[in-house]
Amino acid sequence: MCFEGGEGAGKSTQSRLLHDWLVGRGQRVLLTFEPGDTPVGKELRRIVLDPATGELSDRTEALLYAADKAEHVDHVVLPALARGEVVITDRYVDSTLAYQGAGRTLAVAEVESVARWATGDLRPHLTVVLDLAPEAGLGRFEARDRIEGQSLEFHQRVRQGFLDLAAADPDHHVVLDARAPIDDIASAIRERVEPLLEL
Ligand code: C5P
Repeated sequence: MCFEGGEGAGKSTQSRLLHDWLVGRGQRVLLTFEPGDTPVGKELRRIVLDPATGELSDRTEALLYAADKAEHVDHVVLPALARGEVVITDRYVDSTLAYQGAGRTLAVAEVESVARWATGDLRPHLTVVLDLAPEAGLGRFEARDRIEGQSLEFHQRVRQGFLDLAAADPDHHVVLDARAPIDDIASAIRERVEPLLEL
């Protein structure tokens, strides 16, 4: 399953809480993230996020994220699934569709076909979208990377991108208000995840 949402929405906190809850229930769980949770992915993350990189062609950026995904799926996610682990990833294909598609205004269908190819069309059972107005999320911390430094309009398109993806596939998405108390969000997530454990 995966966590998606804009900056400062609490994905890391909630993915950690879900991880701990699942482990407490005796599950074997891998908690991972994109971009950057492989050796090559780490390099790719540095390139796409370092403000010193400067301008990148939108297509270059989409391809770098796609390369990170291919590494991640082949070397981290699939091996964990083969070991029978539950995989929780902080960001996945929806992030690419929202940031590189809706945000950069590349054609979402084209970005999707690249991302699906990169991931071998591996799809999560559930995507949790932590929804937050970008004005609120960006104000939650100081540090600015190349993407966080984009305009408010960019981040508004990204937010809408996530919501559109969730609306188009409600069986595999849950959208939660990221402003709710942490414990309330965590229990709403558990409610959606619990039935999946019986699969
Ligand atoms: O989730 P995390 O903060 O680690 O994401 C790192 C950065 O990469 C964020 O600024 C996010 O907006 C950006 N990102 C992106 N496109 C993706 C995934 C992440 O622009 N497909």
